Amino acid sequence: MNTTIIGYPRIGNLRELKFASEKYFRGEISAAELEQAAKEIRLFNLNLQKNSGLDMIPSNDFSFYDGVLDTAFLLNAVPARYSALGLSGLDTYFAAARGYQGEKGDVKALAMKKWFNTNYHYMVPEIDDDTEIRLTGTKPFGLFREALDHGVKTKPVLIGAYTFLKLARFRGQKKAADFIQQAAGAYSELLEKFSALGAEWVQFDEPSLVMDMTAEDIQLFKALYEQILPHKGSVKVLAQTYFGDVRDCYQALCSLGFDGIGLDFVEGKHSLALVRENGFPKDKVLFAGVVNGKNIWRNSYAATILTLNQLKEHASAIVLNTSCSLLHVPCTLANETKLAEGYKKHFAYAEEKLTELAELKQIADSDAPFETEEYRRNAALHNEKRSGTNDAVKAKVAALTAQDFVRQPEFAEREKIQKARFQLPLFPTTTIGSFPQTADVKSARTALRRGELSATDYEKLIERKIAECVALQEKIGLDVLVHGEFERNDMVEYFGECLDGYLFTEKAWVQSYGTRCVKPPVIWGDISRAKPMTVRWSVYAQSLTEKPMKGMLTGPVTILNWSFPREDISLKESALQIALAIREEVLDLEANGIRIIQVDEAALREKLPLRKADWHEDYLDWAIPAFRYVHSGVKPETQIHTHMCYSEFADIIRDIDDMDADVITFEASRSDLTILDVLKENNFRTEVGPGVYDIHSPRIPSKEEIKDAISKMRARIPAEKLWVNPDCGLKTRGNAETVPSLENLVNAAKEARNENC
Ligand code: GLN
Ligand code: ZN
Repeated sequence: MNTTIIGYPRIGNLRELKFASEKYFRGEISAAELEQAAKEIRLFNLNLQKNSGLDMIPSNDFSFYDGVLDTAFLLNAVPARYSALGLSGLDTYFAAARGYQGEKGDVKALAMKKWFNTNYHYMVPEIDDDTEIRLTGTKPFGLFREALDHGVKTKPVLIGAYTFLKLARFRGQKKAADFIQQAAGAYSELLEKFSALGAEWVQFDEPSLVMDMTAEDIQLFKALYEQILPHKGSVKVLAQTYFGDVRDCYQALCSLGFDGIGLDFVEGKHSLALVRENGFPKDKVLFAGVVNGKNIWRNSYAATILTLNQLKEHASAIVLNTSCSLLHVPCTLANETKLAEGYKKHFAYAEEKLTELAELKQIADSDAPFETEEYRRNAALHNEKRSGTNDAVKAKVAALTAQDFVRQPEFAEREKIQKARFQLPLFPTTTIGSFPQTADVKSARTALRRGELSATDYEKLIERKIAECVALQEKIGLDVLVHGEFERNDMVEYFGECLDGYLFTEKAWVQSYGTRCVKPPVIWGDISRAKPMTVRWSVYAQSLTEKPMKGMLTGPVTILNWSFPREDISLKESALQIALAIREEVLDLEANGIRIIQVDEAALREKLPLRKADWHEDYLDWAIPAFRYVHSGVKPETQIHTHMCYSEFADIIRDIDDMDADVITFEASRSDLTILDVLKENNFRTEVGPGVYDIHSPRIPSKEEIKDAISKMRARIPAEKLWVNPDCGLKTRGNAETVPSLENLVNAAKEARNENC
């Protein structure tokens, strides 16, 4: 049995790519130096994979920002506004990724969207009627040659034609089907080139095949590959799917001329049944995704061997694979120096997953698999009883009743009470919570961690930052203030640290978008609140101002979604345990005089099952109640806000309203404004703050631009329900752009207010 992976993390073990890119953005290093840093990471990863004994090593899984954006550049699908800037190839690419504001022009970035059900984000390609899809890029060939020069014939990986067209935004009249010829032509040429270069396998990533597919979608998929595959020459083509099962297109997938089919047996609920019920083509290789590419727990070899044995009855050739790209897990346990061995032995990051694949291969190839040393060790580990049980928490969750999830009185009643209490102007202005995390805060936190700064001095610094932040907001003239979240490294990790049941890693970074990485904590045991988490900061901040100070918490669903979850209890059970803890904090804030409390559910949409049929049963039916439970105990006059990143919730709009918050802020500036129409059509009850500018980009929005956004919102949302705010937290921005942006925002809101009267 051979082994492969779908892709390897590209940020580097110590986030070298992030740091090099950011230096490049600041003009501190040259393009050549950035290229060099990237090459070092690639070669490091290549050697690592080679030494692990991996049989098929991917290439072109590297990207400076995002693989979908790379594909758009490869295929000439680059909007003219970026090429027109007249920048170098690399800078044009970064302009599309991050926006550009400088002497050559002023353009916003492409839209960014969540990558299926992960916390990774891709750049949405734009296709216009006059876009001409053709093969213009050379990166995959260059990277193939680079690895070849180092003695490895890799398996190039590319976003497949179907997924690319499904993810693209069509801005004109033409649709995906109108680009079949062009796309098929480009991908055919690509295969011809790889054939000439001597590649053995090419992997086309087609995760869009695990989504609900219409007959038209299946037609599109078939039409593309019927035209592409005849051009494969001596190359074998792998159709790689992940993040679910291909129940809608299994037949089509098997009937096309692929040489290999990659299926996900971890997240694909129906994958095994599909193979068992329909069989698997004898002339194809089954790439079996059995090692979880998304979570950090050690694989259970017993379970995996069981799956493989079933697959062997149907497939004549099997390659052991991960369930998705390892992009979604951290690089290596080797840098976790502080985590006790008792915990660490249960984990496998990307590098350790390579070892798992090698061990599984050995076991699977052995005549007596269950007798192997690797198997025995793994079985013993999984049979160990784990620490971290909390019976009181379990009992509380078990005792919850329907009433615990309902806040009284109902929304309209509360809205009246709160309007009378807060007396806010029309279009109240606020921010999402965090203010720029400047170097002084970050280095203080590092010093605190290293024991070079006392807790008292650290806390003094945080208080000073809060005071400055409050003064700044007063000066700018915002209506509802925030404390700035300086005490937080991360909106989930911070809470995890205050909760029992969590484990922390040192270097377990995972790419979220571009140069942004997150370090998800690990849910190890039952969760409970060890101590108040935010009360002292919020109370201090409120003491500095007459204006309402928002308490700022992260919601249970987001905490869960941005952690590595347990696999031994259900997600629902974990979510309710966390909800219990956050509720205690909400009530504590309220008791301490905080009048507005924001509970962020930034990641609520993220883990919505990819298939509609699974939405409620597998997710919303516990996720929404978990949120409701967090705030159902507050007084009518306490205003509950929530925030969500991205506005992709048109399809669950009722469920969002059903969270029963008083105000919701969300991203609207980067996507089109269709969400506003949806709010209107659905008579959305919750007050809303659709972000009026994009904080993911360093450009400063003008007052006019913001006024324009407000008037578009005003046209669809009743004035008395509308809030004005940026689209997300400001922590990744600098003060240089934050201050003028917020000034423009406040002035725009003031003018809109006057014009409204
Ligand atoms: N309150 C958080 C902040 O401002 C929200 C972040 C987020 O939505 N990702 O940073
Ligand atoms: Zn956000």
